[in-house]
Amino acid sequence: MKNQTLDISQLFQKFIMACRGICDSYKAKKPFMISRYASGQKRCSICELFMNWDGTNCPCCGMSLRVNPKSAECRQRLFAARQNKQLQ
Ligand SMILES: [Zn+2]
Ligand SMILES: [Zn+2]
Repeated sequence: MKNQTLDISQLFQKFIMACRGICDSYKAKKPFMISRYASGQKRCSICELFMNWDGTNCPCCGMSLRVNPKSAECRQRLFAARQNKQLQ
């Protein structure tokens, strides 16, 4: 049976955490020779871009920004491993 309460809350979260196009003015260019994270750029997974922004949350959608690529990678790997388990 489907959990409708969870579906609605997920939809609601998507609704409030949506790209409004504000991030475009904070968009960061790809730095030369060093990684984006090393140059202080932060990644928003909702807006799907790197930006020059001092805060911890995206000025556009409000999503917390990624500053540590290693932990994000670990999480992605963990997620992929879980998905593989479900498929098998
Ligand atoms: Zn945005
Ligand atoms: Zn954003």
